[in-house]
Amino acid sequence: MLRRVLRLASGRALVARALSTRRGGSTPDRDGKVSEIKKKIQSILPGEPWNPLYDTSHLPPERSDVVIVGGGVLGLSVAYWLKKLENRRGAIQVLVVERDHTYSQASTALSIGGIRQQFSLPENIQLSLFSANFLRNINEYLAVVDAPPLDLQFNPLGYLLLASEKGAATMESNVKVQRQEGAKVCLMSPEQLQNKFPWINTKGVALASYGMENEGWFDPWCLLQGLRRKVQSMGVLFCQGEVTRFISSSSHMKTTSGKEVTLKRIYEVHVKMDHSMEYQPVECALVINAAGAWSGQVAELAGIGKGPPGTLQGTRLPVEPRKRYVYLWHCPQGPGLEAPLVTDMSGAYFRREGLGNNYLGGLSPIEEEEPDPGNLEVDYDFFQDKVWPPLAQRVPAFETLKVRSAWAGYYDYNTFDQNGVVGPHPLVVNMYFAAGFSGHGLQQAPGVGRAVAEMVLEGHFQTIDLSPFLFSRFYLGEKIQEHVII
Ligand SMILES: Cc1cc2nc3c(=O)[nH]c(=O)nc-3n(C[C@H](O)[C@H](O)[C@H](O)COP(=O)(O)OP(=O)(O)OC[C@H]3O[C@@H](n4cnc5c(N)ncnc54)[C@H](O)[C@@H]3O)c2cc1C
Repeated sequence: MLRRVLRLASGRALVARALSTRRGGSTPDRDGKVSEIKKKIQSILPGEPWNPLYDTSHLPPERSDVVIVGGGVLGLSVAYWLKKLENRRGAIQVLVVERDHTYSQASTALSIGGIRQQFSLPENIQLSLFSANFLRNINEYLAVVDAPPLDLQFNPLGYLLLASEKGAATMESNVKVQRQEGAKVCLMSPEQLQNKFPWINTKGVALASYGMENEGWFDPWCLLQGLRRKVQSMGVLFCQGEVTRFISSSSHMKTTSGKEVTLKRIYEVHVKMDHSMEYQPVECALVINAAGAWSGQVAELAGIGKGPPGTLQGTRLPVEPRKRYVYLWHCPQGPGLEAPLVTDMSGAYFRREGLGNNYLGGLSPIEEEEPDPGNLEVDYDFFQDKVWPPLAQRVPAFETLKVRSAWAGYYDYNTFDQNGVVGPHPLVVNMYFAAGFSGHGLQQAPGVGRAVAEMVLEGHFQTIDLSPFLFSRFYLGEKIQEHVII
């Protein structure tokens, strides 16, 4: 309320200043100015587009049922599904707070857009199967009246995973699970591999798995913008600012074993406005932490992980930014248009980029060689020393490649088990997570958004049971065993 009064007062002051300049004698110069001011005053009449009052359109509303921290693909997907499923519970107001509307450091914008069904966990396979269907029917889900249809530039060329003798049995059992879940994946012997992809050197390869449907890559930016456009049309509000603080109330309870626990409920979110020292408080009923690589920091703002070590209060959200390089190279002798996204057993991967004999690829470093995440500078030596050798060994044509450019982005890296975190925090009861997907969050966003919305609206997962992804696993020490992390 106070904010509204202040805005009104500053607006009145502006109008008063405009009117005061009308007093005084008449000269041609002054007459010109007077008519200019008259025009300005006329244009502030109701219905006119120009409004000299303090423009408040960039400020968040004073309250919103749900505040989503982070407007990347996961935050927007949660927003979409909350609005799509809201009728079950009546209309809900959703606010997305994003500190950088250019997405210059967001993982979504810097990812390579891959989607695969080749995981080992049924839940991950189901999420990606759902996403494939979502992407295939994108214009049914994200159509907006009078807006052009989306073209995701989907390249359905599959993922080709290679295994050595040591990894062959695991690959075989993974593919069994994938098939049980409905994914179309085939296994290939080195001879079959050589016949299908003659540009591959099969030395050291014992087995390969190849996704024949629902796998490939698409344009992440198009999905992001499509979601943004759609949720805006559904009434979701956006605000450019940084969430810097949560205000909560506490209640104390005793568990059945007599242990005392403190439950917290966030009732206000502070949003620091861009280029300003001011913050705006937003009252809310629920917060979604979809801050990507920074979701661990956002959880800390709510006090998560700030209790004694070994306790639930002291268990932090183990998600942090990890820098990953993507190199783009030119190679006219390369595998060509039909090449899938290939992942070598060394961890190095590549895929075609566009139609001009360009390819992109990279490799996740070993834990001891993680680069400093303090900036997004590219290390070209890393390509020379670590990425190129295994790739050129696997695809001899890559001996002649020429690196054209490169970029770095942040994996939203879950240091505990490299899998997503979904659902509410057990103690900060109205903070929900959609974070920590460590390199596969883009492709899982459609299904994760729906799962979080179901949890919020119905109190449980309905379509895909994502209970193994709950926060409590960090406290209980129960790692998700996903074997296919890239
Ligand atoms: C090089 C690279 C390649 C990848 N390849 C793939 C791939 O092939 N397939 C795949 O599925 N995934 C891939 N990923 C991973 C994928 O990009 C991420 O898992 C996914 O984009 C995460 O989405 P997000 O919305 O959580 O994060 P983001 O897109 O990072 O969005 C989070 C947003 O939160 C905002 N934010 C943070 N803190 C605050 C705050 N306090 N207040 C307000 N806003 C805040 C940030 O500005 C950011 O825009 C890749 C990632 C990288 C880096």
